[in-house]
Order: sequence, then structure tokens, then C-alpha cells
Amino acid sequence: MNKTDFIKKADEHLIHVYNRFPVIFERGEGVYLYDTDGKKYLDFGSGIGVMAFGYNDKEYTDTLKAQIDKILHTSNLFYHEPLLDAAEKICKISGMDKVFFTNSGAEAIEGALKTAKKYAYKKHGKGNYEIIAMNHSFHGRTVGAVSVTGTEHYREPFYPLMDGAEFATFNDLDSVAKQIDKNTCAIITETVQGEGGVTPATKEFMQGLRKLCDDNGLLLIIDEIQCGLGRTGSNYAFEQYRIKPDILTTAKALGGGVPVGAFLVTNEVAENSLEPGDHGSTYGGNPFVLAAVSKSLDIIQNRHLSDHVKELTPYFEGILDKLTEKYPFVHGHRGLGFMQGLIIDESIPVGQILNKALNNGLVLLSAEGNLIRFLPPLVMEKSGFDEMERKLTEVLDSFS
Ligand SMILES: *Cc1c(COP(=O)(O)O)cnc(C)c1O
Repeated sequence: MNKTDFIKKADEHLIHVYNRFPVIFERGEGVYLYDTDGKKYLDFGSGIGVMAFGYNDKEYTDTLKAQIDKILHTSNLFYHEPLLDAAEKICKISGMDKVFFTNSGAEAIEGALKTAKKYAYKKHGKGNYEIIAMNHSFHGRTVGAVSVTGTEHYREPFYPLMDGAEFATFNDLDSVAKQIDKNTCAIITETVQGEGGVTPATKEFMQGLRKLCDDNGLLLIIDEIQCGLGRTGSNYAFEQYRIKPDILTTAKALGGGVPVGAFLVTNEVAENSLEPGDHGSTYGGNPFVLAAVSKSLDIIQNRHLSDHVKELTPYFEGILDKLTEKYPFVHGHRGLGFMQGLIIDESIPVGQILNKALNNGLVLLSAEGNLIRFLPPLVMEKSGFDEMERKLTEVLDSFS
């Protein structure tokens, strides 16, 4: 079947919530993807931050194959070997005490919200259910997650949503403080906003949130589903702010490509929130998925990927500086580590750039605010950044 017919037929059966790029990917190798015509693409999207160590890593795929031959699924009514492995590793890497594994990022957010509400319920009784979230945040597509997502067009068609979500301005501590009242139970924020514009929190903001939570008996929920696990040059980005969340959500890179997420809590939260019967999941953290998680965490740690990110970030940012300098319609860049956004003038819809880049064999992402968003695999080397610069320059030249 030719590509056009394939896409037409697929669209006949798929609910139209994505405007997909007209590419049919077949396989990946390292930091490259190949489509069904055999065309090669340099990947600066990593499946939206998932493929931290690239495609078809033998150590990883061998682990998955071996687990398939043992056992895929048990339900959470029983223990299995990968459960201990993965739980122990993620707690150690994050510095949190206890974990619950989910099937996606949004589900990790749901668990975090339920945990915060239960904690407040146990401590203060009914009524403490309000959660302060940030404008331009993104926390996922389920009803609870959408309720705390700070972009109106994601929320509006689905009202009424979860009660008690209030919004404040990211990086504006006063606007958060103003929303706190006797009904508030938690504050939720990303450390580096992803979909909402690749904006890192300031040190004052994150440390200020920690203090606001401590002073008012609130829980701080940090969503590092996108920016966690080495992407910003540390295991979790919050480390660089010298604070700790009460509840952490993580996903994307966690499984190296299998669908998985997790929420983690401190002992203090664990002892005063969810109890048997309060939460669960049929699949959440099944043996297949956790074998993948366990190996992914080993690879991220043993290959020192966060150090690699830290080392190459100035080189990456240097390229973005050059592009900013060269093109009048590029207004600068922002981000942290291997999570960067290039700000494009509103006169050039970023989708056009992404399409041309794809034609030129380069996969890029976009973000709110007409940004090109770069989420390369963490294993990207200097030569890959050079190739990206070359390819993107050719594309941007065509807009000059
Ligand atoms: C992707 C993302 C989510 C949602 O994760 P899904 O796996 O798509 O449900 C939540 N928060 C952040 C910060 C994300 O980047």
C-alpha cells in the first residue's frame, strides 16, 4: 500500500484528536528513525522525551525479550521480582520513600491528587481539597489532570471538571500566595514547564513554593514527567533548586519506551494518606513494564546520562545562540539541559518549520508560544547536535 492510501485508511478508523505528520515510522537505531521508504531522520523529539537512550538498545531489548519468556502480568494482588527492583531503584534515584506505579503520566497525576486530598482529609477533615496549579502548566488529559492544566482550551469543553483547582502565575510567588486559603491542600507545578513553553522555574519560585507549603501545611506536588530522569542534567530537576517535593510524579523516560508512570511520596505523606482500598490499577507496574523500568534506570545511571547532558548543554545552547543571532525571526531560547525551546516569531507558524524539518530528515517538536521544542535522546553526541544545526539552518534559510 502506498503512503497516501495507508494514511487515508488509518484515518478512517482513528478518532481525530491528532493532526499527525505524514510519516510512517518503521524502526529506530540509536538517535535515528527510519520510515517505511527507508528515509533516515535525526531524532530531536525522542517520542516526546521518552526514548532517553535512543532506539533499539540491545541491553534494553534483550531484557524485555527475556521477561516476555518469563511472565508478563500478575495483577497487583501478588509480588513479582521486577517490583522490588524497580521500586528500590526509583526511590533511590529520586530520594523519595515510597512509590506507586501507573500506566501513564496522567495517571501518576491522578494518584498524586488523590494522595494530597486524602492527606488533607486525614489531617484536617473534610473541606481541604483545593489545589493550586500554574498557568501554562500541562499535567495530562484525564479529567483530574486536565483540571489542573493551565491552558484554558484543554479544559473548557469538559466543564464541570474536578472541583477546587485554582490557578496562579508560574514564577510569581505572590500570585500563588494570594490563592492560599483555609481550603487549600496542595500546590502542583512542573519544575520546567514543557508543553506550556519550555520555561524553567526560577530558584526563588521553587524555594518560595517549598516555604509556602511548609508554612501553611500544604503538600508540594512536583511534576517531573517530562523534565525528570537526567533530562536537565540531574536525576530530577528539583535537585538543582535544593528542595524536595512531598509528592513527585515521573513518567516518559522512566520505561525507555513502555507505557509507565509513577507517583512517589515521602514517608510522612505515605503514613498519612492512601490506605488499602484507596487506590489501585490492574496493570500498574506489571512485571513486563517494571523489567523495562528497572533496566532503563540502570542504563540512565550506569551510562551517566545526566552528566553527559550537563557536559553537552553549553554546546547545545551555543548552537541555539547562533541561530538566534542569525535569524531575525528567532527571538531567543530558553530551557534547561536537553529540554530547550527556540522562540519563533508569530509570523511563521512553527508547524511549517516542523514539516520542512521532517522533509529534511529532522524530527522536532513544538510548544505553546510558537516555540520549536527540542527533546533529544539523552545519548545525543556533539556530532548529532552539529547535524541538527546543519539541517535546521537549511530549513530556517528557506524562511529568510
Ligand atoms: C506528558 C506529560 C504529562 C502526561 O503524561 P501522559 O503519559 O501523556 O499521560 C503530565 N505532565 C507532564 C509535565 C508531561 O510532560
